[in-house]
Amino acid sequence: MTHTKDFKSRGYLRIFASYYKPHWKLFLLDMVCALCICLVDLLFPMVSRAAMQDLLPNKLYTAFFAVMAALALAYVLKGVFYFIVTYWGHLLGVRMEADIRRDLFTHMQDLSFAFYDKNRTGQLMSRVTGDLFEITELAHHGPEDLFISSVTILGAFGIMLTIRWQLALVVFAVIPIFILFTSLTRKKMMKASIEVKAKLAGINGEVESSISGMRTAKAFANEDAESAKFNAANDQFRGAKRGYYRVMAFYQSGMEFFMGILSVVVIAFGGFLIMKEQMDFIDLTTFALYVTTFITPIRKLSAFVEQFMQGMAGFKRFVELMRVEPDIQDAPDARELTGVKGDILVDDVTFRYESSPEPVLEHVTLHVSPGETVAVVGPSGGGKSTLCQLIPRFYDATQGRILVDGQDVRELKQHSLRAQIGIVQQDVFLFAGTIYDNIRYGRPDATEAEIVEAAKRAEIYDDIMEMPNGFQTQVGERGVMLSGGQKQRVSIARIFLKNPPILILDEATSALDSVTEARIQSAFDALAVGRTTLIIAHRLSTIRSAHRIIVIDGCGIAEEGTHQQLMERNGEYAKLYQAQKSVSV
Ligand code: ADP
Repeated sequence: MTHTKDFKSRGYLRIFASYYKPHWKLFLLDMVCALCICLVDLLFPMVSRAAMQDLLPNKLYTAFFAVMAALALAYVLKGVFYFIVTYWGHLLGVRMEADIRRDLFTHMQDLSFAFYDKNRTGQLMSRVTGDLFEITELAHHGPEDLFISSVTILGAFGIMLTIRWQLALVVFAVIPIFILFTSLTRKKMMKASIEVKAKLAGINGEVESSISGMRTAKAFANEDAESAKFNAANDQFRGAKRGYYRVMAFYQSGMEFFMGILSVVVIAFGGFLIMKEQMDFIDLTTFALYVTTFITPIRKLSAFVEQFMQGMAGFKRFVELMRVEPDIQDAPDARELTGVKGDILVDDVTFRYESSPEPVLEHVTLHVSPGETVAVVGPSGGGKSTLCQLIPRFYDATQGRILVDGQDVRELKQHSLRAQIGIVQQDVFLFAGTIYDNIRYGRPDATEAEIVEAAKRAEIYDDIMEMPNGFQTQVGERGVMLSGGQKQRVSIARIFLKNPPILILDEATSALDSVTEARIQSAFDALAVGRTTLIIAHRLSTIRSAHRIIVIDGCGIAEEGTHQQLMERNGEYAKLYQAQKSVSV
């Protein structure tokens, strides 16, 4: 499910608001409770004043205490509303956060290989985590902070006007100074906070690169140089933080100063009015209470502005990512590919990567019959993997067509096409979890018996049985590290489960011991029976067992034939073969 269309035509704020829509009931509840909180805060000084002015002088003590009891009850209710706003308000934020995360994740799954070529994993990860954090902070508190603050400011100001308008105007006159001071220092704070973030990113970069390169650093005995680089980044971060806290301290002390001055001005001017008998003590006390009620949301509002800016900056980056359209999409009238025999035709294909001016493949034509095994060989960087990636449509051919069972892959639903193809990559990726789950990845509804059978056929069963918890052994960082050869066999087991009619196998280039090599070879052979197989081959044994061999050399197919034919031809293949043979003997 992509939301690309909605993201394209709408503005940022409307998109942001649209995330509240499914949760409008919670939103409404949140706002009503927030309004009740404001009302209790606004009414308290007014009601106390009325009680003191009207009830006490007339000795209506029972009524006075009844009003006080009612106020106490109002605060009990306020506590309940506060609980609802804090708990449900955050829950609303959490739900939105989950929705935003889900949309982003789904969208990123839809993006094609070309997108991941252009964007670095680390940066994308920071977008999925860092940006979302700021967006959700805004989503959690934004609307209610804005609402409570605005209602309180307007309400308090209105009430101050009715108590003594001259005094209210004095307070009002101070507001622009507040706003000016706040916006000036906030700008500085924002700058300082961006600086802190940049330096933190620097530290993270250093840590990431140092930890990933730890083995190399140790091998070159360069730990000191690594530490020096890290310390420099750490010092810069410390300096940036010092700058940030200086601005923050300046801002907070400035605010305290202004508030103090405002109180003095109010009391002084109020005292003057009392002197002139235009105001009484109770009114002045009530007024002073409203000044506090009035100032707090102004401070909150200026913090909100900062939160809003940061959250929106994150949200803009999120929307930009959501607006990236996958290069490869299903055509509106795309067909399902079913009942595949496994006939592949690469028809006069030329392919160029976006980032490179030169094509990798030029006018390549290749026909693979159902059930045939074709070994693709050639120098490194010649385009073998590229050719194989065009068949499951990870990239689209720049020119020419790829046909599976006579159907152009661009006219098929990607899901149905890829369901018919099993791919064993050179660098197999295992997900965090058990071996069992990793094999089951090939077909999530497979039974235990099928999974065990697949492991046996992939010749990984014995290895699994020797692991501490058998099939339930955790793999990866929190568990057993598998060797390259074992990973490949887990991947082969996945494909046995998937049971597709077409196979693309990328043999590992790294050296394997002869037992492992033989096991992988026999697993590959078993897998290939009855399936159309393209195998990027590096080993002599694999090459020899193929029906046909093609040599790809940087612009296309240089040679094609059986091992025998190509050896007799004494060309590129014969040279590669001789070179390998001399290395492996
Ligand atoms: P082989 O599998 O024969 O070693 P590849 O198909 O991996 O060769 O690469 C062919 C050429 O395309 C190389 O020059 C390589 O640098 C380039 N290449 C491979 N993948 C990408 C990519 N994702 N983006 C840009 N260039 C690429």
